[in-house]
Amino acid sequence: MKFTDMEDDIGPIKDKLGVLTYVTDEEEHAHITVNSQICNTCPHHLCISGCPVRCFNFFEKENGKIEMVFNYEDCVECGTCDIMCDQGAVSWHHPRGSFGIQYEQG
Ligand code: SF4
Ligand code: SF4
Repeated sequence: MKFTDMEDDIGPIKDKLGVLTYVTDEEEHAHITVNSQICNTCPHHLCISGCPVRCFNFFEKENGKIEMVFNYEDCVECGTCDIMCDQGAVSWHHPRGSFGIQYEQG
């Protein structure tokens, strides 16, 4: 069960994600990792509202525990979560050259 319900207000943004091109790096690690243990004691959870595509959400796991789940698939590499997380939970680096999101103008 998802505990953060902020999807509806970004519906138009989610629709636009379909025009973006993502080149997934299968060999390197993800460009963002989140230590969800730290999220358990976070006083503000600013990443949830700060991420423009809602990659951060709390879910209830099968064992009943509430846990932060980071879904990297829609990440647009804006860097907001790296700035907003002052708790040390987010590890962020750019994807290798030619990998990651590709924007087009027009
Ligand atoms: S701001 Fe950082 S510590 Fe707080 S919930 Fe988000 S990722 Fe976790
Ligand atoms: S870099 Fe931006 S889009 Fe990607 S997870 Fe962080 S806030 Fe969300």
